[in-house]
Amino acid sequence: MVITGTTKILSVIGNPISHSLSPIIHNAAIEHLGLDYRYLAFPVASERLATVLDGFAAIGLVGSSVTIPHKQAIMPLLAEISPLAQAVGAVNTIWNARTGWHGTNTDVAGFVSPLAAMQRDWSNTTAVVLGNGGAARAVVVGCHQLGCGKIQVVGRDVAKLERFQSSWAAIQLPMTGSETQQQVTITTHLWTELPALIDKDNLLLVNSTPIGMYPQIEDSPISVEMIQGIGANSIAYDLIYTPHPTKFLQLAKNAGMMTIDGTEMLVQQGATAFELWLKQPAPIDIMRQALIRQLHDIQT
Ligand code: NAP
Repeated sequence: MVITGTTKILSVIGNPISHSLSPIIHNAAIEHLGLDYRYLAFPVASERLATVLDGFAAIGLVGSSVTIPHKQAIMPLLAEISPLAQAVGAVNTIWNARTGWHGTNTDVAGFVSPLAAMQRDWSNTTAVVLGNGGAARAVVVGCHQLGCGKIQVVGRDVAKLERFQSSWAAIQLPMTGSETQQQVTITTHLWTELPALIDKDNLLLVNSTPIGMYPQIEDSPISVEMIQGIGANSIAYDLIYTPHPTKFLQLAKNAGMMTIDGTEMLVQQGATAFELWLKQPAPIDIMRQALIRQLHDIQT
């Protein structure tokens, strides 16, 4: 595709950013649809974030993905933040609106998408979320949107867990569509409590730690013993996408659980952002194929 004087720009900003897979995913979609756009990765130092946003506005950049370390830092620089991003406490997608930069968080939609496709009643499901970092916050909001009966978050630092737990008290968690707001209990626990949290009948076990991520591919956040005798109705979901699959998902699959890896969340959060920017359906299959091809190339 030719870059001309009318070509519009989308981007991802972060630091470092050269490892980002978002340009692969978005440019595959742009090319497939024959759009006059390009999606570029810009390394942005924290102290330049405000200057970069002004510059982006000046050149009419349409929208951008936002990644580490700017997901929280960008929030005070925006004219409007969606309730969803406020609940998560992080913005990963911005767009240039008439009133200034608007921001939202598409990680929640990305996380929820493969689960929502299962079309089941989640009210009897116990969600156990491993880790209490940034991604865990999107997972908690996602589990709440699905209507999981219990949401139990596991971490290693008592002070961080207490902050995590209390942070939700002041937040009105947004639901999607027509679901009615229901009471959901979010509890926090240390790793030593994990075996007792495993509901063998109806579990959604989510790894939102980097345990098992390349190059530590032999590591797993859970042991075989913890999931022995687990029902086939239970789901193991790893946010990690390299390796593909992780040790955690291999153990879960051997124990008879359904498994979901991080590639789908990555594709779906990108697709949600793409649709916000371009106001047309994202070619999700094309985006997924491009990502899987790239991950395959990285791993071989
Ligand atoms: P983060 O904010 O740094 O949080 C990581 C969490 O994992 C923290 O709670 C941390 O505990 C915990 N943790 C780290 N190492 C641990 C260990 N050895 N033992 C126990 N706990 C440990 O990172 P994040 O942004 O939430 O990302 C977490 C994972 O999700 C990463 O692997 C990332 O690649 C993945 N992710 C995937 C997607 C996707 O689209 N698929 C999107 C976002 C994130 P402390 O707070 O105590 O240090």
